[in-house]
Amino acid sequence: MSRQRHQVKPTSARPIRTPAELVETGLVTAEDVAGIEAVAQRYAIAISPAMAALIDRCDPNDPIARQFVPDAAELIATPEERDDPIGDLAYSPVEGIVHRYPDRVLLKAVHVCPVYCRFCFRREMVGPQGLGTLSPEAMDRALGYIADHLQISEVILTGGEPLMISPRRLAEIMQRLAAIDHVKIVRFHTRVPVVEPERIDKALIAALKTSRKATYVALHANHPRELTPPARAACARLVDSGIVMISQSVLLKGVNDDSDTLAALMRTFVETRVKPYYLHHPDLALGTGHFRLTIKEGRALVAGLRGRISGLCQPTYILDIPGGHGKAVIGPDAIRQDDAGCFTVSDFKGGGHAYPPAD
Ligand code: SF4
Repeated sequence: MSRQRHQVKPTSARPIRTPAELVETGLVTAEDVAGIEAVAQRYAIAISPAMAALIDRCDPNDPIARQFVPDAAELIATPEERDDPIGDLAYSPVEGIVHRYPDRVLLKAVHVCPVYCRFCFRREMVGPQGLGTLSPEAMDRALGYIADHLQISEVILTGGEPLMISPRRLAEIMQRLAAIDHVKIVRFHTRVPVVEPERIDKALIAALKTSRKATYVALHANHPRELTPPARAACARLVDSGIVMISQSVLLKGVNDDSDTLAALMRTFVETRVKPYYLHHPDLALGTGHFRLTIKEGRALVAGLRGRISGLCQPTYILDIPGGHGKAVIGPDAIRQDDAGCFTVSDFKGGGHAYPPAD
């Protein structure tokens, strides 16, 4: 649905959560709201004040609005889509843990978010109708599972949004992880520095750190406009405290599916001292077909980044294999081998070169 929004209206100081508030704030027209009501029955809505302020209400194709403003197309599911597109549940030995790879686990403590992204791959699990917050007993069992499995060296707090947990509770979780000798790295997957930058304060940063483990923060952002001055300042506070930041983005039709936007996004991450890490091909989540481009299109876009932005700015293009089989790198191949065993390497302009060279 292409939205023709009202002219700029005052932005709310609190998150927008209902179809009526979308209309009041000029993000959805009175004519379109009926279709949105049906979406709201099924999927949570939240647009933080920072993101609501960033939306250009005069642009019916605004890439920020597209990520957060619900669309009637979300009720159209295609046969290949599924409610657990990356197979979390198949690899969950105890509540709150996903153990897919030998050396690392996901710890999903909460299933609420400060924004609800319309393309979210866990959209059936997050929000008020989602899986909820781990009870103290379930958290004990999840941490017990990590303690019992000596091969786990990395714990990834994801969600839902782990930085929605209070600093006091986060510090407690970090202290309990710090007491497990074989856990060396704790990683947080978050959208907070962008969508609620004011939340990144001294108390939260102190809670994320422990002298005995390395803390990584993976920032989820999909368009360079999301890296506003307050968002950059929030990232600077994290990096200056010694936390390493990496990025993750989703390749999304109508948001970042052109090489100028992608290049600008990756450069902006690097300027912000966030190392580009993953560019996800969109998952087969229910009702997200309007965001999906083909892998062929994705590979062409990623190939276009080579030579255009530095190696430091290059993300790895990946696909989560449906069914829970993990991630696969799906970027363009720079080298191919013929039947005689000879290699041809492509340069950044698309030229081919024999390797080793004939002369
Ligand atoms: S913040 Fe993350 S978990 Fe929450 S809706 Fe967005 S993508 Fe999903």
